[in-house]
Amino acid sequence: MSTVAAISTPPAAGGIAVIRISGEKALDIAEKLFKPFGKGRVADMAGHTCAYGRIISGGEVIDDVLLTVFRAPRSYTGEDTAEISCHGGLYVSRRILREVISLGAEPAAAGEFTKRAFLNGKLSLTQAEAVADIISAEGKSALASANLMREGELYREIRSVSDALVQLLGALAAWTDYPDEDLPETDPETILKTLRESETALENILRGYDSGLVFREGIDCAIVGRPNVGKSTLMNALLGYERSIVNAAEGTTRDVVEETLKLGDVILKISDTAGLREASDEVEKIGVKLANRALERAQLVFMVLDGSEELTDSDREILEKIRSKRSIVIINKSDLPQKLDKKYIDADIILEVSAKERLGIEKIRDEVYKMFGLSGYADCPTLFVNERQKLCCDRALENIRAAITALQSGETLDAVTVCIDGAAAPLLELSGEKVSEAVVNDVFSRFCVGK
Ligand code: GDP
Repeated sequence: MSTVAAISTPPAAGGIAVIRISGEKALDIAEKLFKPFGKGRVADMAGHTCAYGRIISGGEVIDDVLLTVFRAPRSYTGEDTAEISCHGGLYVSRRILREVISLGAEPAAAGEFTKRAFLNGKLSLTQAEAVADIISAEGKSALASANLMREGELYREIRSVSDALVQLLGALAAWTDYPDEDLPETDPETILKTLRESETALENILRGYDSGLVFREGIDCAIVGRPNVGKSTLMNALLGYERSIVNAAEGTTRDVVEETLKLGDVILKISDTAGLREASDEVEKIGVKLANRALERAQLVFMVLDGSEELTDSDREILEKIRSKRSIVIINKSDLPQKLDKKYIDADIILEVSAKERLGIEKIRDEVYKMFGLSGYADCPTLFVNERQKLCCDRALENIRAAITALQSGETLDAVTVCIDGAAAPLLELSGEKVSEAVVNDVFSRFCVGK
């Protein structure tokens, strides 16, 4: 395989920058550029050691650097690797990279180092994906590292299902070749048991997709309610600072204000709305239109009512509109004498809060966590499954169910075998054991250069 190089630190000025070179020629190239202050040669350096020296090209000193040597297979990529830590700053690091490339290294593609690590068996595919998640996590580091830890678990879970299926396939193949041998693994009861267990395991894994998605992407949330019930105040209470205009005159929040806020560990993408009432003037109409659109898109609706007033027709109208939506009815202004009669509200979740006094706001978070199955995610290991992994699980599950149906309707074991085969393949693809080059390339294309 070729020798590749890239700047592995972010493209910005900083204290140091690292140029990573990996492949057969990595140490030769380092030898040509690097002149240690002490004695010795790069070729003689042991793995996991560093040397202080200079990068010199054409007699010109480019920088004082630290060179770290890793020897195959004990490196991130599994190949010989040299890492040059130079002074930060784009000019110096790019200049050194240019020199490295002129000596025969190729510029590394996005994710190239991690891809090599995968190809050399240093990482499983799911582990590599966890690395990508960590790089892109920004500020969600706690989540990302949790994800990395759980990754091993995902791999193990998938492996245990695929191992069971592959074993079953082996038994079925043996039975096809020697139909007279009464192989215990191939009696329909045993096959069914294995299939059922695999089905349950995959269903559980897929459950982690929804919560994983929620943590990664956030929840699109709309706050609706007629004017003056306290939507803006509620949003501000959730945000913790003044954002949209709060005014006692009706209909002051005219546009949909998009705002993201953190509710515990979850990002809510909130659209504050102009209210869902009939629009009177033009500007208000635009606001209402936007609000309706926000409502359509929303995965979660906060429907705000004013507890100090009786339920109005507009309230009922809006309640009707959100019926099909995942929603929380929030009766606001609990600090005032209450006039609203809850028994006329047909909703699963009704909370009483005072947005102005910030009372009861935490109940909202608890309910959202419950609704999206996030409660206790920190203590019980939820597996965060990404899109690719989900699709593999979906395909496997579909085939397992087909196998169960085939078995129960008395079809031949050959037909059952085809289905089981169809279930095992996507799982082997998921764990990276039997994965096409296209999939590998796709996974690594999500990385940045230098990783
Ligand atoms: P919106 O039109 O639904 O966005 O309502 P606003 O947030 O602009 O609030 C309308 C009025 O109700 C403002 O004068 C707020 O101060 C007041 N308000 C909002 N929430 C509460 C609350 O919990 N208690 C009381 N007493 N007043 C509130």
